[in-house]
Amino acid sequence: MSLYIYKNHKIKKKFGQNFLFNKDDILSIINVIKPKYDDIMVEIGPGLGALTKVMSCYVDELTVIEIDKDLVNMLLCMDLFKKNVIILEMDVRKFDFYSLYYKKKKLLRIFGSLPYNNAMSIILYLSKYRNFVHDMYFVLQKEIAYRLAAKPNSKFYGKLSIIIQYYYNVFLFFDIHPSSFKPSPKVYSIVVRFVPLIFPDVFVENLNNFNNLLNCVFSYRRKILKNSLCRFFTIEELKKIKINIFSRAENLSVKDFCLLSNYISDKTKI
Ligand code: SAM
Repeated sequence: MSLYIYKNHKIKKKFGQNFLFNKDDILSIINVIKPKYDDIMVEIGPGLGALTKVMSCYVDELTVIEIDKDLVNMLLCMDLFKKNVIILEMDVRKFDFYSLYYKKKKLLRIFGSLPYNNAMSIILYLSKYRNFVHDMYFVLQKEIAYRLAAKPNSKFYGKLSIIIQYYYNVFLFFDIHPSSFKPSPKVYSIVVRFVPLIFPDVFVENLNNFNNLLNCVFSYRRKILKNSLCRFFTIEELKKIKINIFSRAENLSVKDFCLLSNYISDKTKI
């Protein structure tokens, strides 16, 4: 395994460590977030503090959550952070965001350049806390971001798009070139904003049914719905829910999937 050292830190691949160092990109990210002094700001994976340093100048208090003990120790040595940056050493997927919201009595704003290898599990974990979040800005691998933001009838549209858009409005901002990171990843990144939907168009009654339905239809993506959904619905039922039985999974909206899932839940209640 090759060894990569950046600013005296031995890079740990398992934590998806690609450090942003391009100053223009860092400033552009802060510019799209538009921090306000009294925002309750949380950074996931501050790394060596490239975004942290700039953000900490704009807000009264900044909480950062970093899994890597070595990085936490380096951050603790930076004088700048003693002022208004609270450094927590832990896996963000164990952090209780509700307790922070409860303490501050204000919706949280969350940001960070997420590790590529775990970005989705972090975003899915955060969805549990969406009611306590104002918005989130993440630097993500471009292809993943396209899948999260994809609309029906596009090649990127799939299970991830639907689950995430059930919880959030997703907005893509600007690309970041691989050479803006050390070490450079193989792919482009992009800045993405997630705004929690307080009231989705249709509430899903049973998330297990929702998940099973999505797994089933998207594993037969190219099949027409009459065939891919026959395990769950008769043709008459699909017509009743106003689903075109000759369309495919990628043609249905998030709302269609919510309605289908609730129909399954209602049927199993009886
Ligand atoms: N924000 C820094 C930057 O832009 O230079 C570092 C970004 S790097 C892509 C991802 C950071 O997230 C690393 O510092 C890594 O150690 C940290 N990290 C990875 N998994 C994490 C987790 N589960 N919880 C908290 N931090 C994590």
